[in-house]
Amino acid sequence: MNCPVCNSLNYKKLTTIKSGELYFCINCKSNFLYANISESFYKESYFDETYEAAYGKSYLDDEQNIRNYSRRRLKIIKKFIHKEKAKLLDIGSALGFFCDEAKNLGFIAKGLEISEYARTYAKNRFGIECYKDLKDVQEKFDVITLWFTLEHIENPDSFIFSVSDLLNNNGILALSVPNGYGGFYRFNRKLYFQKRPIEHIFEPSIRGMKILLKKNNFKIKKIEIFGLHPDRFGIVDNNFTRNLQKFLRLGDTFEIYAEKK
Ligand SMILES: [Zn+2]
Repeated sequence: MNCPVCNSLNYKKLTTIKSGELYFCINCKSNFLYANISESFYKESYFDETYEAAYGKSYLDDEQNIRNYSRRRLKIIKKFIHKEKAKLLDIGSALGFFCDEAKNLGFIAKGLEISEYARTYAKNRFGIECYKDLKDVQEKFDVITLWFTLEHIENPDSFIFSVSDLLNNNGILALSVPNGYGGFYRFNRKLYFQKRPIEHIFEPSIRGMKILLKKNNFKIKKIEIFGLHPDRFGIVDNNFTRNLQKFLRLGDTFEIYAEKK
């Protein structure tokens, strides 16, 4: 086994969690799981039980919040795409809130979603068409988005390669991932191991994502740091400490906007 993010063999075992053994890549500072997460994990209950366990409310109850940050992300994407009616594919489209916001902002949006429940929901409520599998996609897009999706995928390198194939030249890949080398991991590792979602195949570092994207011929346009929770490692949570965590690039999540070269 190689590091799924940077392909290095230079790694060490960190600990054992519920779903398998967790390793730390010395080359790129990402962490990854040696385990097998089956598709059946993402059944209907994933959208309430799993989401609720992580965020304290159901995916559906979080709709307004999801729509707010969807609009923020779409505004960034629009800066890089100078085209009317750009075609967008949201991989891991869940219940379709992001696609619906994209539609409202003039994109032609489609989803890709493993959960049948979620695909049906997006179709019935928003008229959003969703693919079930990447191999079913036979068209090209100007924008492909992966919001907290990549970390669920066993071989991110070949996945990014396939995604790149579905992008037009100068197309934009936008993604968010948990930061496996953020403040939480670095300063309160014990609690990080307890809270780390057991289904994440890996949690990459910023460095790891840069390696992965550059290898697949993407040019990074913008990195945004999020997941600012200084209280997770025992520091008072205020604007100053949050900004410091952001400035030091120690946020527990981040977004990358990259262009296909
Ligand atoms: Zn690595």
